[in-house]
Amino acid sequence: MPNPILLDLYPGGKRRALTFTFDDGQVHDRRMVDILNQHSLRATFHLISSNLDRPNFVRADEVKSLYANHEVSGHSVTHPCLTRLAPTQILSEILEDRKTLERLTGQVVRGFAYPYGDFDDHVVSVLQSSGLTYARTTQILPSFTFPSGDFLRLGFSCRHQDADATFEKFLALPNYRSGQAMIVFAHSYEFERPNIGWDNISSFCKRAADQHEKIWFTTLIDLVDYTIARQRAHISADGSIIHNPTTTTLWATIDNQPAQIAPGQTLHIN
Ligand SMILES: [Zn+2]
Repeated sequence: MPNPILLDLYPGGKRRALTFTFDDGQVHDRRMVDILNQHSLRATFHLISSNLDRPNFVRADEVKSLYANHEVSGHSVTHPCLTRLAPTQILSEILEDRKTLERLTGQVVRGFAYPYGDFDDHVVSVLQSSGLTYARTTQILPSFTFPSGDFLRLGFSCRHQDADATFEKFLALPNYRSGQAMIVFAHSYEFERPNIGWDNISSFCKRAADQHEKIWFTTLIDLVDYTIARQRAHISADGSIIHNPTTTTLWATIDNQPAQIAPGQTLHIN
């Protein structure tokens, strides 16, 4: 009997994923994007559509080019506490925000971050009919294991202040632990504060980039999509056949070696 097929790798055969999630879309995102791009890191930027073109916020006409290597995600039209709104108001905050961001980027916007991290079961039930694939909370995930579902309550791994210490633990995880992801949460304007500054996040980004052979640098939506695609793979009862019915290349360990399963491919293992 062959070794079991393990769908335990991210794209590139990597075992770990790293991403950043930034809220509010202030002009300091420009400097943040510049640092990320210098290091080929990727992030998700959650934008408040009614704030575009206002003082201290990015301009509508730069959204597409500024965030080109990253994910543009929703953060509502006016940044209200959603738990205080009626269902129609919640949907309007999400859908009108999506319409603006989709018009500006030419992409389908499928992510969201709850303003103030404010949500409850009722808000989540309304979001289920909003066409969103995931919504990020302000809750810290209990481990580095990326959730396999419940993507409308997606947490993060650490705040930017704790990124270095958290990264230390992340790198020390044993290799048999698969599906590991570290998600760093910040607002770019926080780095303008004299007691925080840009140096720490810049040096963290450099440190992370040095691990590029081990870590998949990605966005929240790509991480969620890859996780969903992996769950859709078909593996035969005896473990000797794997079929990838998705449009995503999947990565697995087969006989202790990394292997790719192309979209639509059926692989027979001897
Ligand atoms: Zn916010």
